Amino acid sequence: MVGRETQPPEAAAEPPRQAKRLVILGVTGSIGRSCARVIGESPGRFAVSAVAAGRDGAALAAAARALGAGFAAVADPQGYADLKAGLAGSGIEPAAGPEAVIEAALKPADLVVSGIVGAAGLSPTYAAVSAGRAVALANKETLVCAGDAVMAAARQAGARLLPMDSEHNAIFQAVGGRDLATIVRMTITASGGPFREWSAERIAAATRAEALAHPNWAMGPKVTIDSATMMNKGLELIEAHHLFDTPADRLAVVVHPQSIVHGLIAFADGSVIAGLASHDMRTPIAHCLGYPERIPSGVAAPDLAELAKLTFEPVDLARFPAMALATRALAEGGGAPTALNGANEVAVAAFLDGRIGFATIARLVEQTLAAMAGAGEIGAPTTVAEALAIHHIARDRAVGLLA
Ligand code: MG
Repeated sequence: MVGRETQPPEAAAEPPRQAKRLVILGVTGSIGRSCARVIGESPGRFAVSAVAAGRDGAALAAAARALGAGFAAVADPQGYADLKAGLAGSGIEPAAGPEAVIEAALKPADLVVSGIVGAAGLSPTYAAVSAGRAVALANKETLVCAGDAVMAAARQAGARLLPMDSEHNAIFQAVGGRDLATIVRMTITASGGPFREWSAERIAAATRAEALAHPNWAMGPKVTIDSATMMNKGLELIEAHHLFDTPADRLAVVVHPQSIVHGLIAFADGSVIAGLASHDMRTPIAHCLGYPERIPSGVAAPDLAELAKLTFEPVDLARFPAMALATRALAEGGGAPTALNGANEVAVAAFLDGRIGFATIARLVEQTLAAMAGAGEIGAPTTVAEALAIHHIARDRAVGLLA
């Protein structure tokens, strides 16, 4: 661990007896900020044991103070000086380095919110799951990268996973404890992103600003770009496969531009149960934070008469090849989703940095997967360490192809 304070924190007050203890990983990001707003709706209901963030020490310190956390960990040691300065006199214990984030994940808690974006969220989430903690999962890469290992650890440790991703949260609520084997089809919806109606040529020339202008959802930059390529929906199919122990051939995606219906389950008799909510992450967040109780989110239920029209259309895989790549990786299984995700992280970062065009994102992922398959580098990971090894090979391969 890097830069760890040695003296024990004294102002980390005992939480009120009935307060639900939370750890929030990724507290400075989009999910973390929405969590803070939901917590603010129910004063006294929650006590935050620990918070963690990637690199912004100053923002982490501010969030830790606002939430009254006892411990704050920044993954990047470079953020430690700002974190420590920001926490001076607060009694909140600062720490830095990936090990400190894992320490945060293991602080006493009734629920750990996994909101760190990307594969960086995997190790702390896995640690919490392995320790039997209930985990609200907003980080989809954890299951995409190492789904088999994480789900096996959850079963072994008796850890409950609550899906915080809006589509999976809707499915989870629709399932409501029913036998998953009775569900013949599970459908998640996609908004279609900013390029839903664009031609392939126009999409190929899309700028960073155009790709970041999502019509419905306010999310972090990585997820927003994944939404524009529709890789996000492919990653969510892989996530659903693991979360709900459902084979690829019973999973489906439908484009629904209004983002009001988030997930649907169908039964053998033709009945369908759908989950609806406004497109605001505070609803699935409040569902997870309060579970099994219902708490206010600050978001009203959708007014269907006012919305007047909900429309649905099929996904066009020709214009959104990233989604096709993800579907193929899901069908292949093993390390294919792991490699897909690693390559996609590099590709999205390169696009956000202005190094590649929009159409190159999917192309780079496809080339990385082909190179790895050719070199026999896509095994079936059974542990998180093996998954991370494939993840890093995929990243290195993708970086090499970029050069
Ligand atoms: Mg989603």
